[in-house]
Amino acid sequence: MSDFVYDLIGLAAGVLFILALKGLSHPRTARRGNLLGALGAGIATVVVFFHGDIKNLGWILGAIAVGTIIGVPAARKVQMTQMPQLVALFNGVGGGAAALVAIVEYQIEGKDAPTAFLIFTVFTVVVGCVSFSGSIVTFLKLQELMTTRPVVFPGGRFVIAATLAAVLGTSVWVVVALGTTPLLVVAGFSLAFGILFVLPVGGADVPIVISLLNAFTGLTVAASGYVLNSTLLIIAGTLVGASGTILTRMMADAMGRSLFGTLFGAFTAKPQDSSSAVENRPVRSGSPDDVAILLNYARRVVIVPGFGLAVAQAQHTVRELADLMISKGIDVAYGIHPVAGRMPGHMNVLLAEANIPYDQLVEMEEVNPTFGQTDVAIVIGANDVVNPAAQTSPGCPIYGMPILEVSHAGNVIFLKRSMRPGFAGIENELLYDPKTMLLFGDAKASLTKVVSALKAL
Ligand code: NDP
Repeated sequence: MSDFVYDLIGLAAGVLFILALKGLSHPRTARRGNLLGALGAGIATVVVFFHGDIKNLGWILGAIAVGTIIGVPAARKVQMTQMPQLVALFNGVGGGAAALVAIVEYQIEGKDAPTAFLIFTVFTVVVGCVSFSGSIVTFLKLQELMTTRPVVFPGGRFVIAATLAAVLGTSVWVVVALGTTPLLVVAGFSLAFGILFVLPVGGADVPIVISLLNAFTGLTVAASGYVLNSTLLIIAGTLVGASGTILTRMMADAMGRSLFGTLFGAFTAKPQDSSSAVENRPVRSGSPDDVAILLNYARRVVIVPGFGLAVAQAQHTVRELADLMISKGIDVAYGIHPVAGRMPGHMNVLLAEANIPYDQLVEMEEVNPTFGQTDVAIVIGANDVVNPAAQTSPGCPIYGMPILEVSHAGNVIFLKRSMRPGFAGIENELLYDPKTMLLFGDAKASLTKVVSALKAL
């Protein structure tokens, strides 16, 4: 295949990536956007085999087979609630792969390469390794295989600063004095930096960091495009880098965070009071009949969905309850927090599965002023996104994050299974508020009982 045809096909794949991003910007067109992106990636992969002299075909096909055998079942089997972990893992693997490719390219061409090539190679290795190890730590946090609270240790700030200095120092060493060993040393320090960089981030801020690492991977891929002389990789990497950066900013804004505060906040935070005593305080729990009676006499009800709704897969039952209330003349809305659940837009996707009309979903800024006129707020499997500690406890991991202000409603009903805290691992005072009633149990089972009780009234 001539270079011209190859470049033309590459351009078509680049256009497909841009159309994919456009499609992904709205739930109605997201599926098509996803397919266009996959088509672009498929074309970009296949076309390589028809251009130039392919060496090590057996290894390449073997690697594709291994990736397919692991990736396809993993993507098919994954629960919606585990999607962020999968994204974190795939993202990390992407960054790590770009770093490995750069190391191999350096071994082939390093000695006679121009300085610009060396700078891009080192950049790819550093950012790719940071993205790889950082993403593995976010995976462990999201999978709750390690604590979701910030991990800080005495002198942590200095260790991070020293590791960063080592990364920069050894990077300059590679560019100035060639040799493969220093590049592997750069990779080692960068892997360590990625871990140290993500450990202090508290659970609630993990989404911002995933998005940031995703942007890093994009930059790595773009830089590896320069190393490999591939325009298509530069286009794809730049798109991922740019969209990841925009998403990171939007998420940080939505959570009232600065990026610096998110990454280094744990070092400046005051030590947390673990509040073990509060667990023994009394709470007011109720039965499905109690909840149904409250709802029956309400004029306005706001449903606040959270991660637990996704775990319980209660989206269809919540719709049944909402429809029943609407048929009784009750004004019903869903209050949507930007980081409810475990991925941006998680609640929108979940509720769309049950065909809940978009106009019933109200964003946080719009719904908050209405809680004062709301008789009942039903919090279904949400915790951090309604936790008043975000406004009242300076130094707590979610302090400063805007919340859904359900405490302004006349009554608050919490559907959860136990007194365990949410993802950020902090106590929620609202559970002890006299206006709060707790309905313990799996959200789907509880909602089913509430629907039956309400039908009977
Ligand atoms: P939380 O994790 O704070 O709370 C979830 C609640 O659901 C828990 O209190 C849990 O209590 C309850 N729950 C779990 N399973 C069930 C079930 N089957 N039935 C009933 N209740 C259940 O979720 P939120 O949505 O309030 O907050 C999201 C958190 O995740 C934030 O801290 C956010 O920063 C973080 N995050 C968000 C991401 C995003 O992009 N949206 C990505 C990564 C993290 P119990 O165990 O007692 O049932």
